[in-house]
Amino acid sequence: MPAIQIHDKLFKPYLSEELIKSKIGEIAHRIEKDYQGKTPLFIAVLNGSFMFASDLFKMLHHPAEICFIKLASYKGTVSSGHVITSIGLDVPLIERDVIVLEDIVDTGKTMHQFLPQLRHQQPASLKICTLLHKEESTQFPVKIDYRGFVIPNKFVVGYGLDYNGLGRNLNELYELYE
Ligand code: 5GP
Repeated sequence: MPAIQIHDKLFKPYLSEELIKSKIGEIAHRIEKDYQGKTPLFIAVLNGSFMFASDLFKMLHHPAEICFIKLASYKGTVSSGHVITSIGLDVPLIERDVIVLEDIVDTGKTMHQFLPQLRHQQPASLKICTLLHKEESTQFPVKIDYRGFVIPNKFVVGYGLDYNGLGRNLNELYELYE
């Protein structure tokens, strides 16, 4: 795969489509085993997770539901700065086995702030599944239950992730040339 240019930056191939798909297959298999007799509800966080969520869902040979949300950050009235809230979560979570699907966990701030809002709805269980984890950059405590790849602190695009709006349609992941 050759290097590609998006806007003003050059990116080089990082993880191939084949590798990504095989890792997602492994995650799907683990979820099937862990949720025997249960019907998990996936909550996919848009925009970045749409490809991951779609491929994972297709590879899952198990009864499951999925819904899609967007997270918005707004300036709260209290002094703590920005508050993260979800848009589009219209399924009751009470007594459900919920699995949040993320494209990437970086500092962990998004999930750290958002998960208590889901817990508040008293799901039977709540797990996080992320394709990518920048473990070295994670500063907020987040327990990740399923993760595809641990990656270094480099900016990546492709497979649903963008750089200023572009690159989401790439079937593989690219990293920034440095
Ligand atoms: P966190 O709150 O964990 O720091 O940030 C998570 C969000 O940051 C992700 O959902 C994603 O939108 C964005 N993000 C973090 N690292 C990258 C990256 O390397 N590439 C892209 N495209 N987005 C990233």
